[in-house]
Amino acid sequence: MCSVIYFPKFKRFMDDVVIVGGGIIGASTAYFLSKEGRKVRVFERDPTYKKASFPLSLGGFRRQFFQKENILLGKFAKEFIFQLPDLLKTKKNGKPTVSMVPNGYLLLFGPEHAEEQYEALKNHKACGAETKNVKAEELQNFFPWINSDGLETATFTDSKIEGWIDPHMFHAALKNKAIELGASFEKKDIKSIEEIKAETIVSAAGCWTKELLQDIPVVPQKHTVFRVKCPKHIPEMPLTGDLPSGVYWRPEGKEYLAGSPNSKFDAPDLEPEWNDFEELVWPALANRVPAFEELKLTGGWAGYYDCNKLDNNAIVGKHPKMKNVYLATGFTGRGLMQAPGIGRGLTELIMTGKYQTIDLSCFGLDRIFAKQKRTEPYVL
Ligand SMILES: Cc1cc2nc3c(=O)[nH]c(=O)nc-3n(C[C@H](O)[C@H](O)[C@H](O)COP(=O)(O)OP(=O)(O)OC[C@H]3O[C@@H](n4cnc5c(N)ncnc54)[C@H](O)[C@@H]3O)c2cc1C
Repeated sequence: MCSVIYFPKFKRFMDDVVIVGGGIIGASTAYFLSKEGRKVRVFERDPTYKKASFPLSLGGFRRQFFQKENILLGKFAKEFIFQLPDLLKTKKNGKPTVSMVPNGYLLLFGPEHAEEQYEALKNHKACGAETKNVKAEELQNFFPWINSDGLETATFTDSKIEGWIDPHMFHAALKNKAIELGASFEKKDIKSIEEIKAETIVSAAGCWTKELLQDIPVVPQKHTVFRVKCPKHIPEMPLTGDLPSGVYWRPEGKEYLAGSPNSKFDAPDLEPEWNDFEELVWPALANRVPAFEELKLTGGWAGYYDCNKLDNNAIVGKHPKMKNVYLATGFTGRGLMQAPGIGRGLTELIMTGKYQTIDLSCFGLDRIFAKQKRTEPYVL
C-alpha cells in the first residue's frame, strides 16, 4: 500500500493513515496497522511525553474486571507481553524487553462490594480468566502479610498471568517496531481534525481527546502515586487493590509504589497531592499490611487518567458523524494494558469494517451519544 493517495481532480496528496497522539494507544495502533501494510504517520505534540499518561502509569496488566471484553483484553495483554521479545524484535534490538514482574493482582473486597465481585467471577470463569477466590478468613494462608479485618472476600492470580511492566520500555518497543515496519513519528501539534488530509484518521489523544472531538466526554483526571520505603521487603507481593479504601500498591525494586484513592478534575498542574499520603494512603496501607506501619516517603508523582466521565469505560470505534475518523480513549486507568488489544481491534475495524478477534462493539460511540452507561466498576 502506498504512503500517499493522489487525487488528480483536487491536485492534492493525501496520507494513508494519520494517528494523532503517539502515546501507548497511538504506538500500538501504528504497529498493528503497519504490520498490515498500511502507511502510518503519527503526529505527537510532545515527543518527550512529559505529561502523557503512559509513562506516569504503574504499568499494571490484569484480567480481573467485571465486563467480559475488559477481561478478554487483559488476557490478550498477557499473551502479547509474553510474546513481545519475538513480536517486537527489530534489526537494531533483537531482544526487546519490558521488565515484566508477573506477581499477579490481589483485589480485596469488603461486604459492600462482595456481591458484585461474585457476579464478576462468573464472567471470569466464562472467559477462562483463571482467577482464584477466597473468603477473607483464608487470606492469610496465601498472603501472610495481610490483615483481613473488615474484608469479605478476595480474588487473585498466582500463575504469572497478571503483573506489571515498564511502560517506557513497552512504548519504545511498540514504536520502534512500528517504525521498522514503515511508520513515521513526527512532532506536530494538531489543532483541529480538519487540518489532517488522510484516508483514515485515528485520534489517540488520550485525556486531551476533547480538544479535537468536543462531543467525547473524556477529561484529564489527576491521580497521585507515592514511592515509599519499608524495612520489610516483600518481593513476591502482587499488585494489591484494597477496594474498601481505594488504595492500591505494589513493590518497585526494593521500595513500593502506592496510589491515592483521591483524584482531581480541572487540576491546574501535575503537582502530587502530598497531603493525601498522611491523610489517606499511609493509614490504609498500615491498616491492611501491618509491616507498613513503618514507612518512609521517598518520592511521588501525579499523572492524568483519560477519564470517561460517562461510565469509566473505553470509547473505541468509528466516529459516526465523521467520514473517516476513528478514536480510542477513555480507558480510565487501564489504557496501558488495553493498548495491544485496542491497537489490534482498531486495525481489524479499519481494514475489514468489523472486529475479528475480540468484539469491542460495546465500546462504540453510539452508547456515548445515547448517554447509555456501561460502567466498569473498580477503577483503581
Ligand atoms: C498514576 C497512573 C497510574 C496508571 N496505572 C495504569 C496501570 O497500572 N495499567 C494501565 O493499563 N493503565 C494505567 N494508567 C492509565 C494509562 O496510563 C492510560 O490509560 C494510557 O496511557 C492512555 O494511553 P493514551 O495513548 O490514550 O494516552 P497518553 O499516554 O496520554 O498519550 C496521548 C498522547 O497524545 C498526545 N496528544 C494529545 N493531543 C494531541 C494533539 N492535538 N496533537 C498531537 N499530539 C497530541 C499527547 O501529547 C500524548 O503523548 C495509569 C495512569 C496514571 C496517570
